Amino acid sequence: MTDIAENLSVLKQDIRTRELEYGRAANSVRLLAVSKRQPASAIRDAWEAGQRAFGENFLQEALDKRRELAELDIEWHFIGSIQSNKTADIARAFDWVHTVDRVRIAERLNRQRPAELAPLNVLIQVNISRETTKSGIAPESLGELVHEISALPRLNLVGLMAMPAQVDGLAGQRAPFAQVAALARNCQSALETLSMGTSLDYVAAIAEGASLIRLGTAVFGPRVQGA
Ligand SMILES: *Cc1c(COP(=O)(O)O)cnc(C)c1O
Repeated sequence: MTDIAENLSVLKQDIRTRELEYGRAANSVRLLAVSKRQPASAIRDAWEAGQRAFGENFLQEALDKRRELAELDIEWHFIGSIQSNKTADIARAFDWVHTVDRVRIAERLNRQRPAELAPLNVLIQVNISRETTKSGIAPESLGELVHEISALPRLNLVGLMAMPAQVDGLAGQRAPFAQVAALARNCQSALETLSMGTSLDYVAAIAEGASLIRLGTAVFGPRVQGA
């Protein structure tokens, strides 16, 4: 077994254990393997161990790997910040986008999603810790953006994504995830997918209802600079 296969196996068992521990339905939490700054060979190793969903942050790097792995049935998720001049490639090359936080970007993705593909699955990124350096929409502006995106036929709005400020301790980590879950519940639209939790805080995210946890280093080990 490769280290990556071993990591995935241990993580999957831990996810099942945490689902039970926190009263979550069995298999309600999916693992998104965050492969930014990992070589294509690492994605291939994970794929051979059964992993199908991969998250990438940097468009050019993602397109290169996608080309290299074209024969594999991979579900590609874009989780990086979106510049408006990159939306056409994102709309064409990805199945999911987690980081939509303004209507202008949503409209471009809607217009540029190729007609032969299914509507693009999108999540709205919420800046739940209100960090000035982070992307994401302010919680009080969420309702309006949900309304606007729901009108775009080539986008399939499925949920919310958040990346809270890092804190130590389970209770402190759970608080912002609970806020995200409450925002999703209070929305008129069905926002059933909650993309939250990284290698450092995924247990807290599972406890508060995460359905997609985004794990990079826990799966692949340290990131390679310039990979
Ligand atoms: C890099 C990244 C992750 C994964 O972080 P790890 O600490 O490696 O698990 C998750 N989400 C986003 C948005 C990221 O950019």
